[in-house]
Amino acid sequence: MIREKCGLCKLNLDIDDKYADSDSNICEKCQLSIFQVLDILDIYISEDVPPKWVMNVVKEFAWIYQKNPRTMGYFNTVLEVVEEFLFESVPRLSIVEIKELAASAVPDNKILKLLTESMVIEVDDGYVYPGILVKKLQQIRWEGYTLSSRQLESKFLELHGIITIAITRSMIKNQEQIPRQVLSLFTLLSNQIMLSCDDEIEPIISSYSFDGTVNIFLQGRQCQKMKRQLAGLADGHTKIIDDIDENGELHLKESTIVYLNEMRIRWRERERDRIRI
Ligand SMILES: [Zn+2]
Repeated sequence: MIREKCGLCKLNLDIDDKYADSDSNICEKCQLSIFQVLDILDIYISEDVPPKWVMNVVKEFAWIYQKNPRTMGYFNTVLEVVEEFLFESVPRLSIVEIKELAASAVPDNKILKLLTESMVIEVDDGYVYPGILVKKLQQIRWEGYTLSSRQLESKFLELHGIITIAITRSMIKNQEQIPRQVLSLFTLLSNQIMLSCDDEIEPIISSYSFDGTVNIFLQGRQCQKMKRQLAGLADGHTKIIDDIDENGELHLKESTIVYLNEMRIRWRERERDRIRI
C-alpha cells in the first residue's frame, strides 16, 4: 500500500492526521504551523494594538527574507515602497518608477501579486498604493516618533517580521515555492506545542528534537545555519531561544513560552477544519 504524504512537509501521513481532518492532505504538525501563520496575520490586522505576546515572536522572523537570494527581490521592493509612503508621503507610486522591481530577477507581476496578497500594497491601473500593513506603519509614524526612537525601531522590526509571515502565507497558498526557513521555525514551535500535550510548555528543546524537526524543511548545512541564527552568531541577537547549553539543548525565551501557551489555547479553540489558506 502506498502511504499518502503530507502536501507540505512530504512526510507520510498517519492515521491520526486523517482523523484530525479528513479532507486535508496536510499532517497535523503542518496544520498547526499554517494555523499560526494565519492567526498571527489575523491578530495583526484586526487589533488596533496587536498584543505583545504575538509581536515579540513576530520580530524573531524579521531577518529571514532579507538575505535569502530567492526572496530578496520581494523584500527590497517592500522597503522601497515603505520608504516612499512613509518618508516622502506620496499617495501612490507608478509601477515603472519602482527601482527594486527593475533590479530583481523575479518578474514584476510576480512580485506585485505576492506583495498584494501579503497586504503590503494595493495595485490599481499601473499604480501602487499602501496596503493594510503599510497603513498601520503610517499611523505610528504620524504619532510623531522619531526614526531613532525605540518605538519606531521596534515597529520596523515588527514590520519586517509581519511581512515575512505575510509573504510566507502567499507562498504556501501559491505552492510555487516552499518557504523552508520560516516553516522550519514554525514546525519547531508546533512540535513544542504538540510535545507538551496538556502539561506546561516544555522550556527546553533537546538537540535531538531540534535536529528531527528543523530538518523536515532544511537539510544539513542549512539546518546548522538556522541553529547559528537562533544562537545569535550571525547578528548578535538570539531568536526564539535565550541560550544553548553544553549539552546542545536549546532554552526557549520566556516570551516564546508565553506565545506557545497562548497559541495552544487558540489552536484548541478553533475547529480544525477551518484551517484553510
Ligand atoms: Zn506535514
